Amino acid sequence: MDPSGAPKSTTNGLANGHSPAASERLQIINDEKKFTPDLAAQIERWGLRDAGFGYNIVAVFGSQSTGKSTLLNRLFGTTFDVMDETRRQQTTKGIWMCRGKDMNVMVMDVEGTDGRERGEDQDFERKSALFSLASSEVLIINLWEHQVGLYQGANMGLLKTVFEVNLGLFGKNATNGRTLLLFVIRDHIGQTPMANLQATLTADLNRIWESLSKPTDLQDRQLSDYFDLAFTALPHKVLTADKFESEVVNLRTRFVDKEAPDFLFKPAYHKRIPADGVAFYMEGIWEQVQTNKDLDLPTQQELLAQFRCDEISTVALAEFNEQAKSQRRPVEAGRVVDGLGGMMRSWRTDALTRYDRDASRYHQGVYGRKRVDLIAALDATLSPLYLGQLKNLHKTCLVAFKKEMLDGLHGEGYSFADVVLSARERCLGRFETGAKEATVEDTDWTWEDEMISLKEEVGSVADQCRKDETKKMVNLIERNFKKQMSEPVDLALNKAAPDMWDDILRTFRQTLDKAEASYLAKATSFDCTEEENASSLAALRRRAWQGLRAKIDEQTADQVILGKLRGHFEERFRYDEAGVPRVWKPEDDIDGAFKKAKDETLDLIPLYSKIQPTDPKLEYALPADSIAIPNDSLSGEEFDFEATLVVFTETRGLELTQKFRREADAYYVEAKRSTVASIAQ
Ligand code: GDP
Ligand code: MG
Repeated sequence: MDPSGAPKSTTNGLANGHSPAASERLQIINDEKKFTPDLAAQIERWGLRDAGFGYNIVAVFGSQSTGKSTLLNRLFGTTFDVMDETRRQQTTKGIWMCRGKDMNVMVMDVEGTDGRERGEDQDFERKSALFSLASSEVLIINLWEHQVGLYQGANMGLLKTVFEVNLGLFGKNATNGRTLLLFVIRDHIGQTPMANLQATLTADLNRIWESLSKPTDLQDRQLSDYFDLAFTALPHKVLTADKFESEVVNLRTRFVDKEAPDFLFKPAYHKRIPADGVAFYMEGIWEQVQTNKDLDLPTQQELLAQFRCDEISTVALAEFNEQAKSQRRPVEAGRVVDGLGGMMRSWRTDALTRYDRDASRYHQGVYGRKRVDLIAALDATLSPLYLGQLKNLHKTCLVAFKKEMLDGLHGEGYSFADVVLSARERCLGRFETGAKEATVEDTDWTWEDEMISLKEEVGSVADQCRKDETKKMVNLIERNFKKQMSEPVDLALNKAAPDMWDDILRTFRQTLDKAEASYLAKATSFDCTEEENASSLAALRRRAWQGLRAKIDEQTADQVILGKLRGHFEERFRYDEAGVPRVWKPEDDIDGAFKKAKDETLDLIPLYSKIQPTDPKLEYALPADSIAIPNDSLSGEEFDFEATLVVFTETRGLELTQKFRREADAYYVEAKRSTVASIAQ
């Protein structure tokens, strides 16, 4: 047999209170007046932790062995110890708690509250009254019928304590701490009608109230400012067992049926402690009570709020950090994480929703302050991800831009300006889209600065590309130019006509004009500045001139020019006017012919030695151009145009003359010998 009289628990799951845990009981304050460390866990095991305000607390007061535990077990399906009649063992002092079966009710069985009657000190009585009033909505005062009217009796002393304590707790703030006192008169035989009992009790209560020494500012407060009173009686449990049971059932409905007109757990009685804070709150209350400190409920509620909001915030933050951690590595590794903004938004919202769900039930000021702290903590975690994402986005967009530029500048027929424009637009567009996605609302995060720096880098990459492109183009034009110049220069220098420089310079001018035109034709698409164009053109002109000079140098190298002189001489000395090889006869004027051919050839040396057109217009055209040539920005060399007009110096001219003379003399000797030979034959 179950001694508690409580129905056996079944196992239908936690939520409806049918699990074994739901019927567990806990001594929250033991006989050494110590508060249990297990209440928070127990409330969770009871399945009440997440009930918010959706729960009730009821406590029972009364003398020993007045059937308090029996009543609670009947009303709430709890499992409190009931004194075993056969052994009459004394239950210890303390406060026990059970969860109501199938109901979100925390039931407190306060034992040993009649120290007065047993001649003990009233310390526990007072403390448990404080404790119960600070948390309970309904306080059941359990008493025998024959105790009614015994003003000096234990219960009245207890009630005085309750009233005093209540004034201290809720004094000025009656609306916050309204409590229902439910008097349950046990073993009501019916001789004295209920109305009389109620009147007697009410009169007693008012008398007690009057007799309280109240603080001056609370002098005119009425009992009804703080308490609602309700009275009920139960028939004798042993003598009228059936009636007792049915009346208990009636009373039970008043605790259960929210729609009942005499429903007892009115919202006004709720102490507004969220279920997940009850354990901490009660422990704090008990600690204050134990150390005999003034119990200041608003402070207790604020302390509770601070503790719980911190805890709730920590839990929310921990889950959040776990989520955020998943993307830290990829971001740090330089990856642009797809949809990071969406993730961050949802982690952040989830964390705040979790926090709001649990913490918003606590003291609003504390809740709000801790929320601001939480947001700061969330954003402090997200901000590096955001900045990393922007940096990575910046980098990848720039890389893509470079690649697109390279691809676009490949092959022929592209417009540089178009390539830059579209690559730039795509790059900045991609960055902006990514940056906007990553930016979480309600933060002070901005991406505009990063965009500005990206724009600058894109600009300088484009500039570099343009410079490279221009250089490439100038090189190409230069190569073409050299190719075109090569043959005409060869021809002119071989012919060695007096106006050979005119020919060369004229061709040079024409070819250069064409090269410049082809540069300008392409350069329009490069978005080059006037200055850049001028500098490129100058470089082109100078390189063209240097190319020409190199060609001339090559054609006037010792062996080459000596070959030219030799050819010139041979043509005049060894061949006649008709181009037929001469066979010298003794009567021929070898000396005259030799001298003429030699002198004519030697005349060529000064002609070759300096670039000197016969047409003065050409002569002036070139130096005038050269002045317009700034120092070559592409090669950085100094350039002295006048000096480049000299092909070889006078000294070298003399040397060439010497060498040529020697060669010519050999021809002369050979010619002479050939006539001697012909005579000898
Ligand atoms: P508590 O000390 O106030 O918690 O009282 P208990 O619930 O432990 O009951 C003490 C004794 O009184 C037990 O033997 C119960 O069976 C008995 N008892 C319980 N309720 C009543 C009742 O309404 N009338 C009578 N006469 N006895 C009861
Ligand atoms: Mg008991």
